[in-house]
Amino acid sequence: MSEKDIAEIKHLLSTSKKVVIIPHKNPDGDAIGASLALYQFLKRQGHEVTVIAPNDYPHFLKWMPFEKDVLKFDSNQKNAEKRIEEAAVIFTLDFNSLSRVGDMQVALSNAKGTFIMIDHHQQPDDYATYMYSDTSIGSTCEMLFNFLQWLDGDALIDAETASCLYAGIMTDTGSFRFPSTSSTTHKVIALLIDKGIDNAAIHNSVYDTNSLDKLQLLGCALKNLVYLAEYHTAYIALSKEELSTFNFKKGDTEGFVNYGLSIEGAKLAAIFIESLEEDHVKISLRSKGDLSVNQMAREHFEGGGHINAAGGRSDKDLKGTIAYFKSILPSYKDKLVTS
Ligand code: 5GP
Ligand code: MN
Repeated sequence: MSEKDIAEIKHLLSTSKKVVIIPHKNPDGDAIGASLALYQFLKRQGHEVTVIAPNDYPHFLKWMPFEKDVLKFDSNQKNAEKRIEEAAVIFTLDFNSLSRVGDMQVALSNAKGTFIMIDHHQQPDDYATYMYSDTSIGSTCEMLFNFLQWLDGDALIDAETASCLYAGIMTDTGSFRFPSTSSTTHKVIALLIDKGIDNAAIHNSVYDTNSLDKLQLLGCALKNLVYLAEYHTAYIALSKEELSTFNFKKGDTEGFVNYGLSIEGAKLAAIFIESLEEDHVKISLRSKGDLSVNQMAREHFEGGGHINAAGGRSDKDLKGTIAYFKSILPSYKDKLVTS
């Protein structure tokens, strides 16, 4: 962000404002962590702040401080629309295209407030007055830490705010193992731990709160895993029936796709999950090296994301989606075999 932008944002926030903070649909740890950290920070600055999530999120994020204050658009539409309409400042966090908020898109498109985007995904749309977009940073929470420093806000980051930032950095870096984990990431983590957070407890709250059903669904997913050695590609499919058998709850399949990528030599992994609510298949893609699943998701599955982690959807049925996925692999063969 330029010094001019930072000075203008400081000026904008120098008097009490109505502010809304928006994470993307089906928010993850990074989106909710960033939203709740910024929420606490802005409230301490004296603003009237509301976090509006498009829909609910998994229970393993519900330990976060002030989580109960999050308004859900899908179950509270009138109130949420009013707040969006009245907001002077609208932060959009961890996404870069208004299509990523689902049914909230209309309200945001009509909003009069000043938009500030903080995001690390590829190919940002041009809807925000102020844009902090950096695809080299592993999480929006790490970017938000920088942003709060630029606003001279370090003193306003307490242990509760730091816990939210830590959770977002931890989840989006795969517990500090993905290539986007830099020495700066670890320096930020050190500063957050010095704020007094209990990092082991945060890890426990996110990763060691599985239900037996979830682990048995993972067993089912691993049984369904297929490896196409010729293409160094692994994929998993989960049908509605399988999800129902194991009493699927939101977030239960998070991380499953990574198991495919853990096969020695695997370059590409996909998971295809039949939606229980809508007539489509939700797709997650992961890659190693320079094969861009962002590009694959944009071109073939109405989605996007990062070079090595992206998501999308298909309106075909599960079988048809898998057949289509297999049919596009030859066009990626060069990268799959050499990268
Ligand atoms: P996941 O596979 O875990 O749902 O998402 C992987 C990455 O891709 C995340 O950074 C997520 O924000 C992004 N992503 C997931 N689904 C979509 C989608 O439908 N559209 C776009 N543009 N990005 C997505
Ligand atoms: Mn993120």
